[in-house]
Amino acid sequence: MATAGKVIKCRAAVAWEPNAPLMMEEIEVAPPQEGEIRIKVVATGVCHTDLYHLFEGKDKRGFPTVLGHEGAGVVESVGPGVTDFKPGDKVIPLFLSQCGECKFCKCPKTNLCDCSWSSKYYDIMSDPTTRFTCHGRPILQFMGTSTFSEYTVINQIAVAKIHDDAPLDRVCLLGCGISTGYGAAVNTAGVTPGSVCAVFGLGAVGLAAVMGCKNAGASRIFAVDINEQKFEKAKVFGATDFLNPKAYNKPISEVLAELTNGGVDFSLECVGNTEVMRTALESCVKGWGVSVLVGWTDVKDFSAKPIQLISGKTWKGSLFGGFKSKDSVPNLVCDYMTGKIKLDEFITHKMSLEQVNDAINLMKTGDCIRLIIIADHSCCAMLL
Ligand code: NAD
Ligand code: ZN
Repeated sequence: MATAGKVIKCRAAVAWEPNAPLMMEEIEVAPPQEGEIRIKVVATGVCHTDLYHLFEGKDKRGFPTVLGHEGAGVVESVGPGVTDFKPGDKVIPLFLSQCGECKFCKCPKTNLCDCSWSSKYYDIMSDPTTRFTCHGRPILQFMGTSTFSEYTVINQIAVAKIHDDAPLDRVCLLGCGISTGYGAAVNTAGVTPGSVCAVFGLGAVGLAAVMGCKNAGASRIFAVDINEQKFEKAKVFGATDFLNPKAYNKPISEVLAELTNGGVDFSLECVGNTEVMRTALESCVKGWGVSVLVGWTDVKDFSAKPIQLISGKTWKGSLFGGFKSKDSVPNLVCDYMTGKIKLDEFITHKMSLEQVNDAINLMKTGDCIRLIIIADHSCCAMLL
């Protein structure tokens, strides 16, 4: 490759500060160092966690940054010591690494690799080390990935090599939202055949949770959202019942208890709202109900009455659907290619990197499920 070993100048959407539009800039992307891979980003989704950092996290130390963590691309070059990847390989960047060596990677109970930015830098949501500069300033790599850029550099422990025939403009969704929601149902909640489930929040994460409940054999799946436009899609993924909490003059947990003879077996919170987290727990049946927090928020405490847990319910949380990232993402890509999981149905819009602020606004208003930003138009014609 003509660019190997050199600094690449390319376009990226830089978030200079919280609460402000992203700016299209020319950035410099340094060559990959020991154990690192430089990736040409082809396509990327926009996830609510990007919006969370921009609008809700508000920790100024997490800026300037390049957002984006739901991408797919092609290896441009590799740094010293990288033997499992070569230029041209199709890859998915992983916001949660899997080093394979730490005590968490070695334990089958968790996917929380200790080498991930998330073990030390939750507050700023990126490792302070970066390969990006712009106008002479270092630019952080949000969630270690920064896919709102034409190129990015990632440690090999946070990159999954995927099937050569995988369509990158769809499988990029497995870099976050779909793996997260799906895994939260099948891995973290452990949804069982014949069970009754409720999913709160029907963005891509919640819809993927619905798909997980359905694939795990749930007999009834309540889809709960304050935006009724989402119900039609929820049906496509297997939801059987639809509830808008705003349409009732009593708590939706009471409505669910009445409809299910005491509450659901499994509930999943896919909004990122501490009140909804509480409601999801209260919607579970006593004795064995399991509620999983999937929505991302770190700004407020959450609460519930202790009797909720004393009565035998379990409250859990899930990062990246409990999937060990590097091992699982290639398999999930194959599950999509063989029809076991859906991806196309999540995609409502396609846009260019220049339209990234429109994309963020669409996510904000809820008039989309997933929009795919095509960062590389030359690959785009080939892929669409
Ligand atoms: P999204 O914005 O597309 O969807 C959120 C949905 O919640 C919308 O349909 C909205 O109408 C609905 N909603 C809002 N308030 C509600 C309420 N009070 N009751 C019911 N529904 C309500 O978001 P997304 O991209 O699907 O992400 C969902 C959440 O998952 C976010 O918090 C995101 O940060 C988080 N997330 C977590 C992980 C993880 O690993 N745990 C990974 C990815 C995303
Ligand atoms: Zn995400």
